[in-house]
Amino acid sequence: MVVESLHPQDSSLPTVSVAQGNGAYANTRGALEPVDLSMIRGKRVLLKPNAGRVAAPGSGVTTHPEVVAAAIDVFREAGADVAIGESPIIGVQVQEAFETAGITSVAAQRDCPLIDMDRRRFVEVAVPDGRVLHSLRVCPEVLEFDFVVSIPVMKMHMHTGVTLAVKNMKGCLWRRSKVKLHMLPPIAGSDEKPIDVAIADMSSILRPSLAIIDGTVGMEGLGPSAGQAKPVDVVVASADAFAADAVACQLMGTDAGRIPHLRMGAERGFGVIDLARMRITPDNWRDWISPFAPPPENLTIQFPNITVLDDNSCSACQSTLLLFLKRHKDRIFDYFPSQSTINIAIGKGHTDLPQGTLCIGNCTANLREMGIFVPGCPPVGSQILSAVSGEPAVDGRDNRMDDEKP
Ligand code: SF4
Repeated sequence: MVVESLHPQDSSLPTVSVAQGNGAYANTRGALEPVDLSMIRGKRVLLKPNAGRVAAPGSGVTTHPEVVAAAIDVFREAGADVAIGESPIIGVQVQEAFETAGITSVAAQRDCPLIDMDRRRFVEVAVPDGRVLHSLRVCPEVLEFDFVVSIPVMKMHMHTGVTLAVKNMKGCLWRRSKVKLHMLPPIAGSDEKPIDVAIADMSSILRPSLAIIDGTVGMEGLGPSAGQAKPVDVVVASADAFAADAVACQLMGTDAGRIPHLRMGAERGFGVIDLARMRITPDNWRDWISPFAPPPENLTIQFPNITVLDDNSCSACQSTLLLFLKRHKDRIFDYFPSQSTINIAIGKGHTDLPQGTLCIGNCTANLREMGIFVPGCPPVGSQILSAVSGEPAVDGRDNRMDDEKP
């Protein structure tokens, strides 16, 4: 395992604490109250919130800054040296994401360092027991800090069911290497989705030392970025990220056994999702269950004049396209003046497409001659706009820096 766990080695019964109703800062302190932090005195602690996208507090997209503030304060009071790190999705600058999320402000007030984990070169880490992954490019800080704390937002996810503390560690993968998890071929003889198996594989080496799940404002529906904000005012903490995720699932009205990456990871012994095998405090935590709406199954429902031809795409292209359409669905028809319906293709399963289709992402490259092709995996919204408008796009730095040495 890459990082040290705060879960006592002599205990097979993980504890999970839940705090609700007192706001982000107090809930976080409340949830951390029962956690034994004696091990972190004099150690370096890396906080890994979800600041992978540019979104304001209260949007349900990024971790609430007061949760991060409380974590800094609690770990410092316990004697740790604390920093905050993130490797965002492609096309997002981490400084802008931290700033917009309000994390820059709370960090500055506390003189807490912010780390762009994409600045330095990756460390290639083997995944010895991986089923679909055999190595990962990990941001070097993950190996250098003594403890890593995953601080995700409580969200539904259109491809993985939920995204919580286990999956949030994907933001410790270096730059574009995150996309590797979305580019895997189907698993022969299995109905399992490669992305689910890949997250379980990742958790064999990238389990956090501690999970703090921010349900101040979660996201229901079309998570991880295009759903509806869901205020719940709850925080969950545990040294077993799988146990924390399992309790969060219950609070969201679902069951971890129905979330493939959590079920598979638990079956492989990476954590506990069986509620009967954990201690959850306080006793009345179920009073705070507030079911989240699941993701809709078809993007075209929301855009009747736009036909999305989706064949085996992944959430990265779906989210990118959905956000693009939300912003530009009226303006986009200006670029297709002779069409009453626009066809947009995403995913790797297409063998034919109507002439004039807007082909989004590298997966559609084989049919690029059918219309307008937008390269990328996934492309960012500005690239799509550039392709249809003919105006230049601003490239993400990833394309320029892939081969740079530290
Ligand atoms: S091009 Fe899009 S659908 Fe294909 S792997 Fe990349 S992000 Fe996923």
